[in-house]
Amino acid sequence: MIFYDFEYERPGSLAEAAALLNGAGGDARLLAGGTDLIPNMRVEVVTPSMLVSLGGIEPSAPDENPDGSIRIDALSKLSDLVDSKLLRRQLPMLAESALTVASNQVREMGTLGGNLCQDTRCLQYNQKHDFQFVEPCYKRGGDCCYPFPGNDATTCWSVYMSDIACVLLALDGQLEILGPDGTRRMPVAELFTGDGLNPFTLGAEEIIEAVVVPPVPERFGWCYHKTSVRGGLDFGTTMIAIALQLAADGETCASARIVYGAVGQGPLRPVAAERAMAGAALDPAQIAAAASTEITPLPHHGFDKGFLRENIRVNTERSLVRAMARAQGRE
Ligand SMILES: Cc1cc2nc3c(=O)[nH]c(=O)nc-3n(C[C@H](O)[C@H](O)[C@H](O)COP(=O)(O)OP(=O)(O)OC[C@H]3O[C@@H](n4cnc5c(N)ncnc54)[C@H](O)[C@@H]3O)c2cc1C
Ligand code: SF4
Repeated sequence: MIFYDFEYERPGSLAEAAALLNGAGGDARLLAGGTDLIPNMRVEVVTPSMLVSLGGIEPSAPDENPDGSIRIDALSKLSDLVDSKLLRRQLPMLAESALTVASNQVREMGTLGGNLCQDTRCLQYNQKHDFQFVEPCYKRGGDCCYPFPGNDATTCWSVYMSDIACVLLALDGQLEILGPDGTRRMPVAELFTGDGLNPFTLGAEEIIEAVVVPPVPERFGWCYHKTSVRGGLDFGTTMIAIALQLAADGETCASARIVYGAVGQGPLRPVAAERAMAGAALDPAQIAAAASTEITPLPHHGFDKGFLRENIRVNTERSLVRAMARAQGRE
């Protein structure tokens, strides 16, 4: 149950939704599937005065642009991503990552835009406050941080747990964003501030309309790996998305992107390790050791830094082997 009153609007178009957000002075929230927002309103970590539902707007199906890029409506349900023949054929990593989100019920409600804009998580934050604590933490507007008492008021180490964001970063996806000045384009990577208190760069009146993913090159290899305690219906302990291209010799790496999820306030990339891969023969064990040392995972939900780093090392090595096999047409 939600214990306070709020306005509810259900516009028939994104333009109307944008106008409603604009008129609300920053205190309204978009409601897509509600699978993240409604639980957060229940525990009162967010208390918007107005919900602008996107439920009355029909998303278009994923489509291929003339340049080979693929446009996916941000209002698409995650189950649409899983079921799309186009995505399964052209961007199987995206369809696979959508399938790892939660359960059928959540995927039938949850949308792509909502998945990207889901709030960061922390055991102490995602609970009804009155039952748990004496005073609220920084992210609730209070004066302490329970798991990290040394943090100051500007530092919140809640983690970002979207499966799909990791994959879109690895695939170099772009966002189409509707705002007061029309539609703008922005790389998915620029959606994240790296600040747990305010994780997104989106303005309060902006709406993600779509994601556009460029065509994948020849000799392309990919792997998505999610570790979770229960397998299904679970946020990730760690997520790893790898996208690489081999050179014409089929052995040398031409370029690579490695993205880690659930270990930072936004997705993390080991950019030095990625740079070292370009132009070199791939050595999965060496790259995995370098990448897992380069990033500093945030402890979360009972997993300490050492465990997370080792998890990342082991699974990066396995994922690289798989991505190489795909790039070489062996899988
Ligand atoms: C039991 C359970 C398990 C889950 N497991 C996972 C998991 O394993 N992996 C994972 O990634 N997520 C998981 N989630 C989180 C989340 O529910 C899903 O990621 C889902 O995709 C969120 O989409 P939604 O449409 O329901 O978002 P909503 O709850 O409607 O919105 C979430 C946020 O995004 C904003 N928003 C929504 N659409 C847009 C848009 N188009 N433009 C700008 N802002 C927008 C909203 O205002 C809100 O702030 C889980 C949730 C539950 C309840
Ligand atoms: S990490 Fe962030 S959300 Fe968690 S208790 Fe500290 S301030 Fe609050």
